[in-house]
Amino acid sequence: MQRQPLVIANWKMNGDRQLVTAMAEALRDSSAQHADVSVVVCPPAVLLPAWQQAAFYDNIQLGAQDANENASGAHTGEHSLALLAEAGASMVLVGHSERRQFYGDNAQRIAAKVNQILDESTMTVVLCVGESAEQREQQQTFDVVASQLAEALASRKQCERIVIAYEPVWAIGTGLTASPEQAQEVHAFIRNWLGEKFGPSGVNLQILYGGSVKADNAEQLFAQADIDGGLIGGASLVEEQFVAICNAAQ
Ligand code: PEP
Repeated sequence: MQRQPLVIANWKMNGDRQLVTAMAEALRDSSAQHADVSVVVCPPAVLLPAWQQAAFYDNIQLGAQDANENASGAHTGEHSLALLAEAGASMVLVGHSERRQFYGDNAQRIAAKVNQILDESTMTVVLCVGESAEQREQQQTFDVVASQLAEALASRKQCERIVIAYEPVWAIGTGLTASPEQAQEVHAFIRNWLGEKFGPSGVNLQILYGGSVKADNAEQLFAQADIDGGLIGGASLVEEQFVAICNAAQ
């Protein structure tokens, strides 16, 4: 089964309305719009309505960078799935390394978010996993990735609406990219793990690479057999870079 290429922009805590307009225009004018690549933008939640307006007629989906695991209630500063869906999001990143490191997203919370998204909404989960530099040095990459997958997906019996993003922590925002071979090796491991957990449908999940993807390294990374696209941070804030990355995924 053919897996559709997917490129997701993670704007983190960056961007403004001007960039929304400029990026929507740049994507509209690019050939990626007409090709068989799904493009998803995850801006800060407050910019979702601006994106909804700017890309109303375009083939761009919107996503959220995180979501609270509760349906509603006294959770100051947080966003529920219902609020994010109302603002146009149809995907949610879960377990990004910055949230694991700095915002208390431990294994239990990540699993709760995955379950909330899959059980209580129609949205897609983009589950981020990846090892630190130290863990890679100590040759723990496969163990770390396997336990992050196992913890997050423990109670899942089916794998619809799940995308995996392999993001080595040492490559995020550092300018250090995993080589295509390094990335492919872990992607193949993840695909095998998904096959063992979910059977044939697990093997067909989209697995994205994230970590300092730029216009000049995207094509080589995306050419790997088990890399189905990318989760793009810094380069998704620069129109020419992001358009070139989307085109490279075709
Ligand atoms: C990310 O934040 O998910 C990411 C991959 O960032 P960058 O592309 O800047 O390394």
